[in-house]
Amino acid sequence: MVYGLKTSAAQVVHTADCHYIAKHAQGDLVAYGSIVGAMQNGRRFCRHCNPVLQEYARNRLSFDRFCEDSGFHYRIDEMSIDLQTPTGAWKLTVGKENQSVLFHRNTESRSVDHLSTIKGYHLQRCPEKDLLSQLKYIYFHDCFRGENPYFPPKEKPVKKPAPSKKKKHAAKKDTLPIGMSKKKRKKMKEQQRERERRAKIRSVLDTIDALQMARRATA
Ligand SMILES: [Zn+2]
Repeated sequence: MVYGLKTSAAQVVHTADCHYIAKHAQGDLVAYGSIVGAMQNGRRFCRHCNPVLQEYARNRLSFDRFCEDSGFHYRIDEMSIDLQTPTGAWKLTVGKENQSVLFHRNTESRSVDHLSTIKGYHLQRCPEKDLLSQLKYIYFHDCFRGENPYFPPKEKPVKKPAPSKKKKHAAKKDTLPIGMSKKKRKKMKEQQRERERRAKIRSVLDTIDALQMARRATA
């Protein structure tokens, strides 16, 4: 719950324990279920009791150090901390439970964009609850996305020259040493086929792993 003054022209809302509202009678206050609801009614959060800005103030030295080391820049507005990272933009802002939540700027349009409470951003399902852990999450998310882009740069297909008949024949040619017994030759060929089969399976498993990691990172 957040509270505003019925008569206030400032349209500011506060947490229950903020001293700005402590001196007012219950009847003078209007309550909102959440800051999100209050914002939809044109209210904004008091900078003094805004939990995200309070947490920032308590951890400012560590916050600044992390940003400097990671090449992050930020500015603070009414409600949130706007972060600019080398590859993206993020917002740390107050969620429905007055906790800090993370929004990530869209890099492409999605069908669910209209559902977001912040235009041009989507809610990032970050498991971290405190600001400094959220900063680390952003850092690793950016690293991961840098290595696994949604839209990898298209490489020009290189046309392989059609192998000449002579080469085709050469590729098929038995590379086993001359003079090897038929039995041994057969066994070595079988081993070779088994190695190729295992390499194919490994490659498929690697692809599945990469997809699962990508899903986890964007979930
Ligand atoms: Zn307040």
